[in-house]
Amino acid sequence: MPRGAIDRSPGFYDPAKETMAPDARRHFLRDRLRDVLRHAATYTSHLTPRLSAAGLSLEQLRETDDLFRLPPLRKRELPPLQEKDPPFGGLVTVPAHSLQRVFISPGPIYDPEGAGPDYWRMARAMYAAGFRQGDIALNTFAYHLTPAGSMCDEGLAALGCAVIPMGGGNTETQVQVLRHVQATGYVGTPSFLHTILQRAEELGVRPLQDLSLEVAFVSGGMLPESLRATMREKYGVGVTQAYASADLGLIAYECPRHSGMHLAEDLIVQIADPETGQPVPDGTAGEVVVTTFNTVYPLIRFGTGDLSVLDPLACACGRTTPRLARILGRTDDVTKIRGMFVHPSQLDAVMAETPEAMRYQLVVRRKGFEDDLTLRVEAPAAGGDLPGRLEARVRDAIKLRARVEVVPAGTLPVDGKKIVDERTWE
Ligand SMILES: [Zn+2]
Repeated sequence: MPRGAIDRSPGFYDPAKETMAPDARRHFLRDRLRDVLRHAATYTSHLTPRLSAAGLSLEQLRETDDLFRLPPLRKRELPPLQEKDPPFGGLVTVPAHSLQRVFISPGPIYDPEGAGPDYWRMARAMYAAGFRQGDIALNTFAYHLTPAGSMCDEGLAALGCAVIPMGGGNTETQVQVLRHVQATGYVGTPSFLHTILQRAEELGVRPLQDLSLEVAFVSGGMLPESLRATMREKYGVGVTQAYASADLGLIAYECPRHSGMHLAEDLIVQIADPETGQPVPDGTAGEVVVTTFNTVYPLIRFGTGDLSVLDPLACACGRTTPRLARILGRTDDVTKIRGMFVHPSQLDAVMAETPEAMRYQLVVRRKGFEDDLTLRVEAPAAGGDLPGRLEARVRDAIKLRARVEVVPAGTLPVDGKKIVDERTWE
C-alpha cells in the first residue's frame, strides 16, 4: 500500500459516547457503577468482606464520589491475596477454565483475560492513534507471560488491521520484516521504535523511501516530545501513546492533539492522595485509582501506584472526557510537601524547558510550622532573570512556591537525590 493511501482523518471511535455532556456521562458512569458493584458482590468472594471491613454496605456506594469512602485495593496487595486464594484471590467472577488466557505479570500476579473480542478495550486508543482497516502492524510487545502483546493484537484485530506478531528483540529481523512486508504501523515501546529505525539506517535502509511506516502506537515507556518530533520529521511516523495495565487494560489514551491522555470512558478514574485515598485538589498530583466495569475481573477502587494529574478542561478534539497528564512516576517515589505530592519527574519537566539550568536539587526544610522549599540550581550561563522564571515554572508544575538559588557548577552531587527532605519532626 503506498504511503498516504489510508484515510487516517481523526474521527471518533464511538462518537455517541466520547462526546457525552458532563451530566449524561455522570449518569452513565453511575449506572454502570451500580451494575458492577452488584455483579462483583454476587460473583466474587472478595467484595462483600472488603465492604464490611470498611463499615460499608452496597447501598452506600451509589454515586461515583461515594467510592472515596472505600480504601483503595493496592496493586501490591494482589500477590498475597492470590497466594492465599489462588489463582485470582477471589476477585474473578468466572471459573478459570472459562477464561481465554491467563497471564503472569511480575509479582507474580496472575492476570485473567476473559473471552470475546478486544477484551482489553484497546481498539479505541489505537483508532485515535490513526490505525485503520488496511494497516499492517508490527507488534513488538511480548506475547508470552505478560499481556501487552495480546492486548494490542486484539485491538488491531477489532479494527481490521493485519498484525505481524513479532515480539521484542531481533532488531535486524524487525527491520527486514518492516521492509519486506511494507508494514504501515508499529506497536511497542517508544525507545524500541527509535532503536529499530536507527538500525535500519545503519543497514542502509532509507526509512522514508524504503519503508511504509506511517503510524506508531506506543506505551510502557517515556515518550519525550523530542523523540516524537524526530519520528515525525525524520522518519515520517506519527507517534501516539496510551496508558494501560495488565490489571485494567486501557486506562487513558492520546487523541490526535497529543495534549494529555483522555480517560477511557468505560472506567471510573479518580486521582487520590496515595496515603489516605481521598481526593486531591484539581490540577495536583495523586495516585491513579480505577474502578472497572469488567464483568470478569471487576476491580473496584484499584490503586495502580502510578502518579498523575487530571485536566478536566475540554479538549479541542471534541472528546469530552477529562485527560490525564503524562504518568509522573510511581507513588513510592513521592515526597509530601505542604499536603501536595511532588515527584522528581515534575521538576525534570521544568528543567527540560530551561536549557540554561543544568543540575538541580529541591531541598525541603521545616521553618517554624511550615515546609520551606529551596531549589538549588547549577546554571553557569544563567541570565539575571533565571530565578524568577524558574520560580514561576516550578509553581506552575507543583503548585508550591520554592525559592531558587543559583549555585556554582560542581556544587550538587552528580547522582544524588533530586528531592532532599531535611525536615525534622519534634
Ligand atoms: Zn482530545
